[in-house]
Amino acid sequence: MKFVVTAGPTREAIDPVRYLSNRSSGKMGYAIAEAAVVSGHAVTLISGPVCLAPPANARMIHVTSADELFDAVHAEVNNCDVLVMCAAVADYKPALPVSVKLKKQTNDFALALKPTRDILASVSKRPRNYFVVGFAAETEKLEAHARAKLLQKGCDLIVANDVSKSDSGMESAENAVTIFVREGKAKTLARAGKIIIAREILKIILATREKALTKKA
Ligand code: C5P
Repeated sequence: MKFVVTAGPTREAIDPVRYLSNRSSGKMGYAIAEAAVVSGHAVTLISGPVCLAPPANARMIHVTSADELFDAVHAEVNNCDVLVMCAAVADYKPALPVSVKLKKQTNDFALALKPTRDILASVSKRPRNYFVVGFAAETEKLEAHARAKLLQKGCDLIVANDVSKSDSGMESAENAVTIFVREGKAKTLARAGKIIIAREILKIILATREKALTKKA
């Protein structure tokens, strides 16, 4: 099967030397890509800027900004069976990035931002033959927010993690997640190394996809 996996943060340029970003390390997305390669799948990994070695045998596409990620996902997705949107895409970007370094000033400074396009929603909501997995990093009301995202973004499955804890989630080597599907019970995976969590997520993705295909037939 063909997988497209996105991983890591995006960087949104303020000027040539400054950017807005987030704490995503890319570890979860890279672990999912690796688990899929090891299971014999063809994997394209679209990665934001991270400090990780690419998984052996994955096809790599490197991007920096949310706009570049948008274009890369749209260019690859029609040719895949499963899209896993693990990347922590910036929700906002500077409204007017400038080509010269901004000068320091003594007074307060406000940066105008505009929303980035929601890549997950843009690919989920159009007619498609591929299975779409989203991620939800939450600090409160995990189930309510994740279930709302599943519907709003139109994906088939959402992997939610509580990023308020310092021992799992963003930047950590470990994770604890709850997986929500449109119909059926949520499944919680207790804290474990990201590669172990990735293998379990992969199994659940494949089983849920299979079930959806059987229902369609
Ligand atoms: O809305 P929120 O950022 O919490 O949604 C997270 C999910 O949506 C992740 O799967 C992320 O990759 C995706 N996303 C996206 N485009 C954005 C923001 C988030 O595809 N601009």
